[in-house]
Amino acid sequence: MIERRHALLSPTPGTSRELLSLHYGPPGTGRKVAIQASLHADEVPGLLVAHHLRSRLGELEAQGSLQGEIVLVPFANPVGLSQWVLGSHEGRFDLASGENFNRLYADLAPRAAEILEPRVRGGADVGVADARAALLQACAELTVTTELQCLRRTLLGLAIDAEVVLDLHCDNEAVLHLYTLPALWPEVEPLARLTGSRAVLVADLSGDEPFDEACSAVWQRLSAALSERAGCKIEFPAACVGVTVELRGERDVTHEFARADAEAILQYLAWRGFIAGAPQRLPDLLCEATPLAGSIPVLAPQGGVLVHARPLGSVVKRGEVVAEIVDPLGGHAMPLASPTDGVLYARESRRFVTAGTRVCKVAGREAVRSGKLLSD
Ligand SMILES: [Zn+2]
Repeated sequence: MIERRHALLSPTPGTSRELLSLHYGPPGTGRKVAIQASLHADEVPGLLVAHHLRSRLGELEAQGSLQGEIVLVPFANPVGLSQWVLGSHEGRFDLASGENFNRLYADLAPRAAEILEPRVRGGADVGVADARAALLQACAELTVTTELQCLRRTLLGLAIDAEVVLDLHCDNEAVLHLYTLPALWPEVEPLARLTGSRAVLVADLSGDEPFDEACSAVWQRLSAALSERAGCKIEFPAACVGVTVELRGERDVTHEFARADAEAILQYLAWRGFIAGAPQRLPDLLCEATPLAGSIPVLAPQGGVLVHARPLGSVVKRGEVVAEIVDPLGGHAMPLASPTDGVLYARESRRFVTAGTRVCKVAGREAVRSGKLLSD
């Protein structure tokens, strides 16, 4: 294993942070996986999964079982990890800018297309390896002026040339679920089986450039940008399987969960040929892929005490009561109904909410939302 430390741009004199990446397996095979934990720094389950992955990857490497490079970033956000305000951890938004740590990753396709264009015009064959090199160059050229921008460039530089990118997150309270591109579902389905996912939410464009899409959707964009520049049809395959893995809820931090999740990830990598010994048989699939645009939040129309009415993972019908808001002033309880048929896969963890809070989310089959599909 090779350990690399990446110094982040220092925001003020006398302060500095660094990102750690652990590199297992043989580099330079053209095959690479990137796994990162807790980009939203207050989403802790991924940190524990990375802890278990670390020791297992060490064992597998010692046995000579790794057949490609596996990069593990055991804490993806040292900036967010340090943001403690009056006793509370604020790990989702950068306090200096207000920006979400998992948004605004650069679209590297235009610059990579510019780098590749002369070779295409010169009649050379341009393949996935060339494109990965161009994407790495485009990433390295990004200008950064803040610590946050430097963090984003560093993370993207570790993952943009990977064939599999797993970004480990969690929700408030949730069953395990995944986000990915619709076209990648056949590639992601074994991961859904191995992790026991209860929902898979797919979208071509979630909005605001989350990390997994910056790594996966870039391939389609690069094909389009290079075709336009070179004046001929260039079509790269979907060369990166990017997935955001939501490891249940923020308090689901146990060795049992983390060990099992780490093992599921390793089994998936074995299925993809990164580790010797693929699983004989994949477990049953517990859900289908549904559009992210069909995941409907239930909003609190008024503030009050939140009482959930259905357990996580419930299959609910439209109109079925999923929660109540109890108004301590008026003394009445307002029932909240599911807006769609689907799986109740995530819900608010606080028990007092203000008007407009998303109290839970139901994954339905029908795409009814548009615009930015992710919550802030
Ligand atoms: Zn997150």
